[in-house]
Amino acid sequence: MTVTIVGSQLGDEGKGGIVDVYGDAADVVVRYQGGDNAGHTVVDGDEEYKLSLVPSGAIRGKIGVLGNGCVVNPETLFDELDALRERGIEPDVRVAARAHVIFPYHRVLDGIEEDAKSEEGDLEAATTGRGIGPTYEDKAGRRGVRVGDLLDPETLRARLEYVVPQKRALAADVFGIETDEAFEVEPLFEQYREYGRRLEAEGMVVNVGSFLDDAIDGGQNVMLEGAQGTSIDIDHGIYPYVTSSNPTAGGACTGTGLGPTTVGQGEVIGIVKAYLSRVGTGPLPTELAGVEGHTPGYEASESPDLSADIDQPQSEEELAHYIREEGGEYGTVTGRARRVGWLDMPMLRHAARASGFTGIVVNHVDTLAGLDEIRVGHSYTLDGDELLSMPPTTERWGECAVNYRTFEGWDEQDWAAVADEGYDALPETARTYLEYVSDELDVPIYAVGVGPGREETIVCERPF
Ligand code: GDP
Ligand code: MG
Repeated sequence: MTVTIVGSQLGDEGKGGIVDVYGDAADVVVRYQGGDNAGHTVVDGDEEYKLSLVPSGAIRGKIGVLGNGCVVNPETLFDELDALRERGIEPDVRVAARAHVIFPYHRVLDGIEEDAKSEEGDLEAATTGRGIGPTYEDKAGRRGVRVGDLLDPETLRARLEYVVPQKRALAADVFGIETDEAFEVEPLFEQYREYGRRLEAEGMVVNVGSFLDDAIDGGQNVMLEGAQGTSIDIDHGIYPYVTSSNPTAGGACTGTGLGPTTVGQGEVIGIVKAYLSRVGTGPLPTELAGVEGHTPGYEASESPDLSADIDQPQSEEELAHYIREEGGEYGTVTGRARRVGWLDMPMLRHAARASGFTGIVVNHVDTLAGLDEIRVGHSYTLDGDELLSMPPTTERWGECAVNYRTFEGWDEQDWAAVADEGYDALPETARTYLEYVSDELDVPIYAVGVGPGREETIVCERPF
């Protein structure tokens, strides 16, 4: 069977940790979209692994697969594999022949477009500058290079001879930058042929749909791992502040070659963070205070003493700071401070429908501990109407006024002990909060995250 893991919000909900917990029972772990911007963190005892491309299951001796819906930077892939090997792990990673390849010109162009967008005023999607968006553009523009092409010198050369002059002209004539080897066929050909040889020598390239189908037929458990989250899905997210692929469960089909009936026979689990965090600009109705340079129109008005340990935050700025510090809300890949806000139920209802969640995991319940009160955006008011789900344009979303519900907070606990004892050991107020979320979405709670460690997860249901 399959289990699909989907981010319910804006990414960084703690998917990596849950893939890791449930991945114990999986034989194969597949990423179905995204590139080396995923920023998964896996903690194993004292060891912490930060991975941006290699599926986190590969740390546990599973077969890790990058599906055709992914875009692959072979340099990152081999760097991560080499680094894991140096730490004594022998990852078995396969890559879809149909996955698209990131080239140096994609990375250069990624940076340029972001700069142009921020000069035009606030349109940047907060990309990580890794060339992911431009690679997906080339995929849709039918000028991409696929992993399978790296194994075939003639095709690789032909593709590069077609696309590279276009990229050079774009960089030089449109953006006026001086181009270097990143825009020349010959060095690119040599470098990427070498990657192709290594992929081939290590037997990494697969026809991913049939590879997975065989695994399922053979009785193996397959976990499908989404990157990022529903609200930055290119179709269902807050366009244009989105990623270039589909983190929602439909992406698990198109990004692997398994049909919806196969994926739909399994479980689809939404990963929820108990509050919100996000990088980049654009609206965020339940945002607490803001982050200068990211929150539209926000300037820090007061200067709260944020260096001191806050006992009970009073202002929104103090609350935001408290949650950011407790939750470690700084980007895994970029280190950027994330914007934070209260849980947004219309966002979650939208996510639960778009992916058809069969269960949810709520993470970071420990992060909110110590607050007297916890708020949740229950619904929006827009033009005098109450909305329970998100409006389809981002501009209208930004106009939504939030109707909050207030919950009683819970104290710090010995979370490892709570996790050990199980769900009923959670403070009653935390259970009230969790059950509200579960009831509103009409989806059961499969697990609760009460800390970053593997053992700090309360597991209620095991999907495999
Ligand atoms: P992903 O992108 O969804 O896989 O999430 P990330 O790994 O980028 O970000 C999640 C961060 O929160 C990581 O540093 C995790 O170790 C941490 N984390 C995950 N779940 C919990 C939790 O329940 N409590 C706390 N305190 N941290 C968590
Ligand atoms: Mg992340």
